[in-house]
Amino acid sequence: MIRADRYRCCGSGMCVLICPEVFDQDDSGLVVIDADAVRTADLALLRHAVSCCPGQALSEVDSAGAEKSAANERK
Ligand code: SF4
Repeated sequence: MIRADRYRCCGSGMCVLICPEVFDQDDSGLVVIDADAVRTADLALLRHAVSCCPGQALSEVDSAGAEKSAANERK
């Protein structure tokens, strides 16, 4: 599962470029996630989107909502 913190999203659109079937942007440019598409998306692509997010707005969480990885874990 992928979680987005829209307060951190800077509207770069990187996630949409990497995985357009899952990520979109609203009229303000902020990320929107298609939760249904996440279930069938390529996990490597989702993780790539998380790692490339310049706003550190995306994180991978488990089914209980605990964070597994986040863009801000980059070194
Ligand atoms: S890559 Fe990050 S900052 Fe850019 S639109 Fe997606 S969630 Fe927002």
